[in-house]
Amino acid sequence: MINPDFKEFFPSFEGECQGCDTFGEVNDLSLCDKCASKLDRDLIREGDWDYSALAFGVPTERREDLRKEIISKYDKQLELIAPKKEKKSKNRKGNKSKDRHRNIHQQMGHTIWTK
Ligand SMILES: [Zn+2]
Repeated sequence: MINPDFKEFFPSFEGECQGCDTFGEVNDLSLCDKCASKLDRDLIREGDWDYSALAFGVPTERREDLRKEIISKYDKQLELIAPKKEKKSKNRKGNKSKDRHRNIHQQMGHTIWTK
């Protein structure tokens, strides 16, 4: 018999996704399912292994294989986060995506440390 309180044990949040700005169910990083997996692939593309859930537990020597696999399946283009090597310091107002990137990193760091 299905417990009607089932959802209480698997809390999800209603909110605006940080990645695509749609309102719906989001995870603890305020990302919808789609964007959460995009972020994960981006982190691997960028070599941010420590933040990636996919790369978690993957031995260092296997990481490069994982990245190649991601790139061959999903292309090398970043899907969600802003590229690190962006050199647009002229216009500070256009830095929203960079701030978002940093924000996501901070939140992910927080998530990891509290585990
Ligand atoms: Zn999203």
